[in-house]
Amino acid sequence: MDLPPVDLCVVRDMGAPLGHYPPFAGDARNSIGKRTINKTTFSDLGLRDELLTALGELGYEEPTPIQQEAIPPLIEGRDLLGNAATGTGKTAAFALPLLHTMTAIGSGRTPRALVLVPTRELAMQVSEAIHRYGRALGARVLPVYGGQPIFRQIKAMERGVDVVVATPGRARDHVARGTLVLDDITVVVLDEADEMLDMGFAEDIGAILDGIPEGRQTVLFSATMPPRIRAIAQSHLTDPVRVQIEDGPTAAGESPRIRQAAYVVQRAYKPAALVRLLDAESPTAALVFCRTRIEVEQLVETLNGRGYRAEALHGGMTQEQRDRVMGRLRSGTTDLLVATDVAARGLDIDQLTHVINFDVPSAPAQYVHRIGRVGRAGREGVAITLAEPREHRMLKNIERVTGQRVPQQALPTVADLRARRLDVTTATLRESILEEELESFRVVVETLSDEFDVMDVAAAAVKLAHQASRGSDEDDEDIPEPRVREDRPQRAGQGGGYQGGDGAPRRANRAGPSRPAPEGSTRIFVGAGRIAGVRPQDLVGAIANEANIAGREIGAIQIADRFSLVDVPTSSAEKVIAALRAGSVKGRKVTVRRDGKPTR
Ligand code: AMP
Repeated sequence: MDLPPVDLCVVRDMGAPLGHYPPFAGDARNSIGKRTINKTTFSDLGLRDELLTALGELGYEEPTPIQQEAIPPLIEGRDLLGNAATGTGKTAAFALPLLHTMTAIGSGRTPRALVLVPTRELAMQVSEAIHRYGRALGARVLPVYGGQPIFRQIKAMERGVDVVVATPGRARDHVARGTLVLDDITVVVLDEADEMLDMGFAEDIGAILDGIPEGRQTVLFSATMPPRIRAIAQSHLTDPVRVQIEDGPTAAGESPRIRQAAYVVQRAYKPAALVRLLDAESPTAALVFCRTRIEVEQLVETLNGRGYRAEALHGGMTQEQRDRVMGRLRSGTTDLLVATDVAARGLDIDQLTHVINFDVPSAPAQYVHRIGRVGRAGREGVAITLAEPREHRMLKNIERVTGQRVPQQALPTVADLRARRLDVTTATLRESILEEELESFRVVVETLSDEFDVMDVAAAAVKLAHQASRGSDEDDEDIPEPRVREDRPQRAGQGGGYQGGDGAPRRANRAGPSRPAPEGSTRIFVGAGRIAGVRPQDLVGAIANEANIAGREIGAIQIADRFSLVDVPTSSAEKVIAALRAGSVKGRKVTVRRDGKPTR
């Protein structure tokens, strides 16, 4: 089962223009030749005006590498097989062409495009993104996932819809009920296909694809390319263009003086995490990269609201405005620059000590390019990346491509931060004592020492100095630790899913249900096991689809002859039990209950 050769690899090296790398005729899959093209804008890609307006309003300044490569062939109607993880901009890579080519937007009754995604969370996210891009076109987008009352979805479908974004199980339910009509679908997208297969959706996906008329355009995005994905590509894609973010030449190895670190933090807590890191690191000057103009502006406002001197730099500013900002940075009036890649291109700032990626860059080479702004001319530099839990894979990819570790660290705690601030205050006081210009203040100490202990007088003075330099500690908010998905072992080449090389289910512990559920988990008893043909993926699929919890949140699964045990987060246990009781496992109603007590 061979994949089609890579038609287009995206390589971007150290600020050089993007290059297309079409294969040499008859070469092996990975031997690629090189052709350099000029920088591409969204309008170069030929997108319709309404989409360009939407992108401008969203503050997108240029297409990400995967968008540059995927959009033109998709507009031409080609099938496409893309290697891309979350964070690369893959949603817009398929959503923009889909909206560009769609006819009768806003007027047809049955959907013209179907996007299949593994989880409810992604269904909502993708559908919101398509809605934002297609707003000016009047596109009607409907997310459809397990767990939400089906009748509400049916009603929405009856009102007419252009794009359906669905989890496979629920989509198949709708097809069976006749409420999701596939007859007019011209584009189908399988997003995060490897994840869908891992969750046991292979059969649902196959059935849905078989029900869509021939001649449709099929797009498959997957972060990994295990044999089962190749098999799907082979049987359901026609002569696909293959696109992947490839490992361009990188020069990270030439910058040993850059200390790199990554912090995984939920989106909502990113500004708080940034502030905490800035306090802990005290950069002389820092360049913070954001993806969009809007993000730049919002972050500048947040930072200034918290007492920093931050300035924005983005493509929507005139050259004169940008020069003024750079002048303020060079003179030290500003020490924090928040910028998009486009605006920061070519900047060379001597005093820069820190580069901070507020988002994971959309390709490894972009990461290398960004962090190369520090650690120049023998100076030391720090590169910090904030990643959302879902972007974990992009970090791994960066490490693989650059051949360097980007250690994942825990954010400084509120206590760490306060201790660090006290260190700064102590150092400032020490300097002041050494300067010896204290005569005029001694009288205050003497007066107060008649009334109070000298130690208390000193402590009160330290408190005032501390607060004056930093403000109050009261706005330090707690930043919860995110759950990070670890890469699933051995997916590629092992038949996918939960099968190990020996064919034994990886997550099914045949040694018996002896270990307690890990902390924060509740073990659930399901009254069907091996004899009833239950496999781990059946349980993952049933839980993820019907109870709205992401597959990755489901813990160990143990399958005995007559029953199974599944560990789920305690916070979701009730929901999972209710959903499994209401639904079925392997087509049968089964007993479902808690097994023992939740751990904490
Ligand atoms: P995705 O990989 O599709 O999950 O996208 C990751 C993030 O990048 C999302 O927040 C998008 O809004 C954002 N994004 C996608 N394309 C671009 C672009 N060309 N410029 C700036 N941000 C983008």
